[in-house]
Amino acid sequence: MKFPFIDTLEERSLQLNPAQPARRWRWLLPVLLVLLFLAVLLWLPWQAREMEANERQEQLIADTLWVEQTLRFELARDEEALASLGADLVISAPAAPALQARLAQMFKNGHELSRVLWLDAEGTTLATRGVEAADTTLTAASLMAGDNARRTRSGRYSDPYRAGGAATIDYHLPLFRNSVYVGSLVAKFNLKVLLDETVPWWFAHDNALSILDRDERPLAQRTDGGSGRGVYTHKHALDLPGAMVELATDSVKGAPRLLPNLLVGSVIALALGLLVSLATLWRHIARTLAAEGALRQQMAFRTAMENSLVTGLRARDLEGRVTYVNPAFCEMVGLPPDELLGKVPPMPYWAPEAMAEYEQRFANVLAGNITPQFETVFQHSSGRRVPVLVFEAPLVDSNGKQTGWMSSILDISDRKKAEDLNRRQEEKLQQGARLATMGEISSMLAHELNQPLAAISSYTAGALNVLGRAVDSGSAVDALLLQRALEQASTQAQRAGQIIKSVHEFVRKREPERKEVAMPSVIEGIRALIDLQARQAFVSVKVHLPPDLPPVHADRILLEQVLLNLTRNAIEAMAQIAPERRVLRIVAESSQGHVAVSVIDHGHGIPPDVAERLFSPFFSTKAEGMGMGLSICRTAIEFHGGTLTHTGNPGGGTVFTFTLPQQAEALA
Ligand code: ADP
Repeated sequence: MKFPFIDTLEERSLQLNPAQPARRWRWLLPVLLVLLFLAVLLWLPWQAREMEANERQEQLIADTLWVEQTLRFELARDEEALASLGADLVISAPAAPALQARLAQMFKNGHELSRVLWLDAEGTTLATRGVEAADTTLTAASLMAGDNARRTRSGRYSDPYRAGGAATIDYHLPLFRNSVYVGSLVAKFNLKVLLDETVPWWFAHDNALSILDRDERPLAQRTDGGSGRGVYTHKHALDLPGAMVELATDSVKGAPRLLPNLLVGSVIALALGLLVSLATLWRHIARTLAAEGALRQQMAFRTAMENSLVTGLRARDLEGRVTYVNPAFCEMVGLPPDELLGKVPPMPYWAPEAMAEYEQRFANVLAGNITPQFETVFQHSSGRRVPVLVFEAPLVDSNGKQTGWMSSILDISDRKKAEDLNRRQEEKLQQGARLATMGEISSMLAHELNQPLAAISSYTAGALNVLGRAVDSGSAVDALLLQRALEQASTQAQRAGQIIKSVHEFVRKREPERKEVAMPSVIEGIRALIDLQARQAFVSVKVHLPPDLPPVHADRILLEQVLLNLTRNAIEAMAQIAPERRVLRIVAESSQGHVAVSVIDHGHGIPPDVAERLFSPFFSTKAEGMGMGLSICRTAIEFHGGTLTHTGNPGGGTVFTFTLPQQAEALA
């Protein structure tokens, strides 16, 4: 028979053994995710750094534009002052002191001014003021700017140049009266002073400022906060008509270091940590997989072992619920696992006649007392009884906590059959031996008595002949002849008596084993045999013996035979009654110099017609009965000077009682 249980185990082992590719691919996703995570982690600080750099750059550009505007505004103010002066000069030249006063006012407002020249149309200096007032020369670049100014009729700046080490730029404002060129005002600006005076300190502190010529050579610089790092730089042309001048700013701050470094450092540390934990996890999983593989092997091995076992295995939890059965157990009781698993008593394989026994044992199990080894009987689903030997042990989990009970169950049908056969054969042998002895005695008696009886018969026939002849002839009886015949007959009768006596002697000689016997030890000696028969018939045996029971003088073997016969009869008489009433009691007591032993059953009892012939040899009501048991018992008991009687049991059944004289009286 193949049970679904086995399939389930196979399926389970298949589920535990997934296809190799699936195992390989399941790593791909986490690895990809981890790589992506690392990439994002590395990209984030870079991106933050970029954003900050952009922000700083934008800030620098905005500040540079603002500074450029400020410079331009300052120069524009000077231009306006010059334009205003120029306009006045064209209309009418003021007196020299007044002109000087105006110029002084201009110098006061614009510190970047280092010199102002008033030239006439021919280039002759009409007035001059400034730190370099004495020097009225103009550079070629300045002269070129003057030409341009006159031509374009608007103010023009020269290309910057160095004058006495200072970066300088000239501004030419042409003066026209009625569209006729009447001269110029030439202002000379010190670019370094322009930077120093105009650019606010906080900007100069954070940035190195330079004014560059058209070849990008620095003309004037301001580096209050140190030289620029060259990281955040910006150049912007100063919008000066006629001149190519650029304002360059260079932040003293370098690229941000600490934060990105911290971020990168922490990312690297995190990544390393991640890799280490991944490696650990990997190793752990590899170990788990190896353990899983080993477990699968173990499972397969265990399944194969369980399937090949002929011993039934059954596990129960602490409530007695079946949690596991192996195929051998299923086969033993003829039920599939799903009809057994999860079942609580009464179990489907309990035989009705042994219900009380199971329930008693189950109550013990619940109370935590198990019988480590016991014999019982299970009922196969076909109704067949299966005698089994059960071994029980506590089921303990990996924490050492008891979770239930594990039983291994041996089918002992064959052993039982062999035992039964053995017992029957032994009984038959005993019966045979007894019969043989009786037969021996009978044939010996027949043989031995045949002769004297034949002789008696012929002597009495002879005597009758003598008497007949005398009656017929009317003559006197031959008394001598008659006497001799009767004497012979008497002799032969004595001989017959002798023979019977010798048989009696022979019987007496057969029990030289008589000695002091304690009844409890006799019962103890055959208790195993009684129990064996009782168990098979689900009969419980109870023995009540008073502790002060006196011994008897008897042949132990004969007493054993008597007890065995009586108990077997009692057990057989209870075969058809309700299992809970199958109780066999052996009770002993002593009274009036006798020891009385009663074998009490609750069997079918003895009807009067049976009772009449009960002790007759060869009387039996059983199909296979010999009818010799009780007869032999009575002979044996009477032989010991006792009696064997029976009465009805008031509770139903029969009581057989034999009495034996106590040891002292038997000897007396
Ligand atoms: P047998 O081998 O036939 O049992 P026994 O001499 O032992 O021979 O018994 C004779 C008969 O006496 C039995 O067949 C049975 O009918 C009856 N008998 C003996 N013991 C009991 C008993 N305890 N209860 C009822 N009937 C009994």
